[in-house]
Amino acid sequence: MDCCSQPGLLPVDQAIRQMRDAITPVSTTEKISLANALDRILSEPIYSALNVPGNNNSAMDGYALRHQDISTETPLTIIGQSLAGHPFKGRVNQGECVRIMTGAVIPEGADTVVMQENVRAHNEFIQIHKPPKPGENIRYAGEDIAIDSLVFQQGKRISPVDIGMLSSLGIAEVCVFKRIKVAVLSTGDELKPLTEKLQAGDIYDSNRPTLIALLSRLNVEVIDLGCIADNPEKIAAAFTTAIEQADVVISSGGVSVGDADYTKDILETLGKINFWKVAMKPGKPFAFGALQKQNATSAKGWFFGLPGNPVSAVVTYHQLVLPALRHLAGEIFDAAPAINVCTQSNLKKQPGRTDYQRGQLRLENGESHVITTGSQSSGVLSSVVQANCYIVVEQERGAVTAGEKVNVVLFDKFLT
Ligand code: AMP
Ligand code: MG
Repeated sequence: MDCCSQPGLLPVDQAIRQMRDAITPVSTTEKISLANALDRILSEPIYSALNVPGNNNSAMDGYALRHQDISTETPLTIIGQSLAGHPFKGRVNQGECVRIMTGAVIPEGADTVVMQENVRAHNEFIQIHKPPKPGENIRYAGEDIAIDSLVFQQGKRISPVDIGMLSSLGIAEVCVFKRIKVAVLSTGDELKPLTEKLQAGDIYDSNRPTLIALLSRLNVEVIDLGCIADNPEKIAAAFTTAIEQADVVISSGGVSVGDADYTKDILETLGKINFWKVAMKPGKPFAFGALQKQNATSAKGWFFGLPGNPVSAVVTYHQLVLPALRHLAGEIFDAAPAINVCTQSNLKKQPGRTDYQRGQLRLENGESHVITTGSQSSGVLSSVVQANCYIVVEQERGAVTAGEKVNVVLFDKFLT
């Protein structure tokens, strides 16, 4: 079997590209305090108004001196001290040194710091038994960030260490894109909220809580629209309400061609389907399209219809919806890198779709390899829970035998 035997399936990279091409990123911005900026997206580049560090300073506890004065015989006179926050005011002249602590400003005249372990200190002078190289143990002004240099591009998602960097530049407020609003709902007559007792044939709605939690990692505004029965009028009404409040609607269930799979038809009536079958496993039925907002003729929102099976819902969210939402939110980002390692498990696979099998990347005796997390059925959520990576098996590839090389993509912070 080749990919042509599954006609109408869109390869994953093309699906991602089509969504990117269709979606224009948000343009509305706001100024917020740095304290609230974690996981927001910069709407303008940031240039440094300062050198970091601001002064030449010491990388060690020791003594600041003129390198030309070093000799193992002649002692250097200690003329004062420079502490972090309390610089030495005078100048280091010939035959002199200043006691200095890590982070303290290098006094005028000095060009080198000798670490304290390499000197014998007496009350008023030191003798150096292991001379430093010229300029040793000095961190130079602007060594980390030079004044006027570009620190972050527009479109950067602000991480915890970025907050540190921006703090070191004295930046208390940043301009970011407004957060996108995402409405989430589940469809299915069998679904019950967690607070209800299950009757025969019922299951708990696990996709909606999962999606809401996944979206909180993305730091978007989430609107929870609950569970909707398999009833075309109710689903249509739910989509209409959802798109009035949100930029994006994500539903799960009802996108395949089963009897109760109304989602696709409703989307055709209320907006437009861009595509609804992707050559991936899990997750073949996946609908992407636009929903027209009723109260504004030109405005539209985006719709992502995920398959109902819990693993399919998670994997299609992570592989397809997430890059689309990051793009919509104004983020500029690179695709996740893959590493090529040996699998220690045989992997079932048919050519025709890209598989996102769940695995554990392991390190043993200095070598990385991957093993499967067992049943890859799209209903078995433990295959994701126990995994730390995808084993991405190419569309055209068939079954994989233990010992063969495979591409592995580690789970990221948006998933685990
Ligand atoms: P569907 O895509 O609606 O045909 O659903 C496929 C499978 O996923 C069925 O076994 C459903 O019961 C299950 N399913 C659908 N929606 C959910 C949900 N929100 N939480 C858990 N399982 C679901
Ligand atoms: Mg269903």
